[in-house]
Amino acid sequence: MAKQKAKAIQLFDQEILPGTSIELNFNFAKLHTNTPVDVPIIVERSLYEGPTVLFTAGIHGDEVNGVEIVRQLVSKGINKPKIGTTICIPIINIFGFLQKLRDFPDGRDLNRSFPGSKKGSLAGQVAYKLMTEIVPHADYVLDFHTGGSSRFNAPHVRIEKGNEQLTELAETFGAPFILYSKNLKSSFRNACRKKGIPMLLFEGGKSNSIDAAVSNTGVNGSKRILHQLGMLQSKFKVSTPAKSAISIGGSKWIRAQASGMFKSSVKVGSKVAVYDVLGHITDPYGKVHYWIKASHEGYVFNVNEAPIVYQGDALFHISTQIL
Ligand SMILES: [Zn+2]
Repeated sequence: MAKQKAKAIQLFDQEILPGTSIELNFNFAKLHTNTPVDVPIIVERSLYEGPTVLFTAGIHGDEVNGVEIVRQLVSKGINKPKIGTTICIPIINIFGFLQKLRDFPDGRDLNRSFPGSKKGSLAGQVAYKLMTEIVPHADYVLDFHTGGSSRFNAPHVRIEKGNEQLTELAETFGAPFILYSKNLKSSFRNACRKKGIPMLLFEGGKSNSIDAAVSNTGVNGSKRILHQLGMLQSKFKVSTPAKSAISIGGSKWIRAQASGMFKSSVKVGSKVAVYDVLGHITDPYGKVHYWIKASHEGYVFNVNEAPIVYQGDALFHISTQIL
């Protein structure tokens, strides 16, 4: 079928013609010094009609590995589509990013502030603007996250159960794991679901840290999705993942049974058997020792890398059900 010429689109009252590259500014508030803050949105349009894919990261300002993935998409030109349009927002919560913090300056979690409101909290206003001005243009959304604080996630895609289209997209993405989890109320993922826009939420690595393997998984997965949609330029190679994704239907955290200095002895992503030793907690004087053992068999897809933990801290996230 012959390619059809695309039409102009309208973003923030700006007309964006087919075949153009443009950087828009999503400036929603200034710093308290009256300094303006730029939140760049990079729009790349092909001359030809096709899907629109929105890539977002930094909803949590300290999740820099997600930012790195979208940065690479832009920097390598992967976002320049053969057909259709890509919209990249590498850092949504720029306030958090500046301070290496997860939340907004008002203490709100942007990912619990959707769909937001025009006159709500700052986070709510950003959510609202995103949902009303940008998301309606998207046919697909890929949102990149990392584990919170020191909790290192094995690269995985989170989707809800029972949605065939999302399952197919997640399989195409090709991360080592697919985690079936419910949409959190007031999350970006839930807001997209309500609009009927398929979204893949990628998790990989931990906050304030960049891991090359995680970045590669995110970039390669994005390339596979663009390729599947016929949007990837032919100069980019698409690799087949070494193994097909392991689908996790249920999971459980193992928590610290005591406070102390903590060392994990399992590799994130590995499979463990029941009673396998996962790590060790001791006091700074070497008097007490606790060995943390697996309560069940499964894949360890998150490992806490904090050197010091409190009793009850989540240490290992292990699958309970493989689909
Ligand atoms: Zn996050």
